[in-house]
Amino acid sequence: MLPGDCRRARFQAMSGVTVHQTLSKLLRRGRLLAGYNRPLVLMYHRVGEPLVDPWELSVSPQNFARQIEILTKARDIVPLQWLAQRLRDGKPPRNAAAVTFDDGYADVVQNAVPIMLRMNAPVTVFVTTHALTDPSVFWWDILSRITLETPALPERLAIQIAGRNYDWLVTEDATRAKSNLAISRTALHFGLHALLKPLRVHERKRALQQLARWAGTDASPRTRDRAMTHSELRHLADTDGVSIGAHTCTHPSLPLLKRDNLEREISASRQQCEEITGRRVAGFAYPFGDFDDSTAKAVRSAGMDYAVTTLPREAGPRVDPFRLPRVTVADWGEIEFRRTVLCHG
Ligand SMILES: [Zn+2]
Repeated sequence: MLPGDCRRARFQAMSGVTVHQTLSKLLRRGRLLAGYNRPLVLMYHRVGEPLVDPWELSVSPQNFARQIEILTKARDIVPLQWLAQRLRDGKPPRNAAAVTFDDGYADVVQNAVPIMLRMNAPVTVFVTTHALTDPSVFWWDILSRITLETPALPERLAIQIAGRNYDWLVTEDATRAKSNLAISRTALHFGLHALLKPLRVHERKRALQQLARWAGTDASPRTRDRAMTHSELRHLADTDGVSIGAHTCTHPSLPLLKRDNLEREISASRQQCEEITGRRVAGFAYPFGDFDDSTAKAVRSAGMDYAVTTLPREAGPRVDPFRLPRVTVADWGEIEFRRTVLCHG
């Protein structure tokens, strides 16, 4: 291709993008003028103020209260199960929003649900069932405590994870370091997270114990990172406006699992939620937002009515009920919340 053709092709490609963006904006403006907003599902994890929060999973109680207040004025907050049913029936409601929490942290019971109740807003909580009794299930919190909260880490980390050797020099400022083994604490945290995520539970526990020994600490979780207990979950399920959904037993990345294990994670977590709450569980959230065709099919075959992803957009008219999109909300004040969440098109 000649340089002139290249420029023309690039211009045409850019024009295509620009035309598409302009059309999307016009369509969205048209929907806004007509008072028609597509359904929006929000994803939260925690309400609290942790010391470190590398994945931005926590929203402060003040910001959360303000966000829900803004949302109640801008949209009708509806139960997710009702919204999913309307979408399945091809009758998307105007201007609806649903609020969800993933994982089943205790601070949702302590801090988030009282705010939702005060504002008369329904909420769905997707629970990782083994975390109710095993605090090591939320392993990412243990990892962040070891890597980001230990006051002084040893400089050299040589570790074997899943049969591979890794060697790093941990430094506060990796950009100035001369060695190509140099890595910042934050980069180390995210690198280790990526390595630990696909491991089996016992392999991950072993790796976390090695890391804890290296850091001069142990592999226990922080108390404030605990999941809700059985009785808290039972009480939550009995609260008006609160629905419970399943989020697997051990929070694996589902597309990595073999079929038996995949089916067990989905069905057993649903069954445990139903046994504890005494209510039918109709919804499912994919851990880490990871799913593929087989995963979505397995959730449907398990008898669920819907499943939520982390695809960040509003729900279009022909949305698959087992691929419902959700918009992640972080610890944003009013301006950022309006700009990022309420302007989704
Ligand atoms: Zn999760």
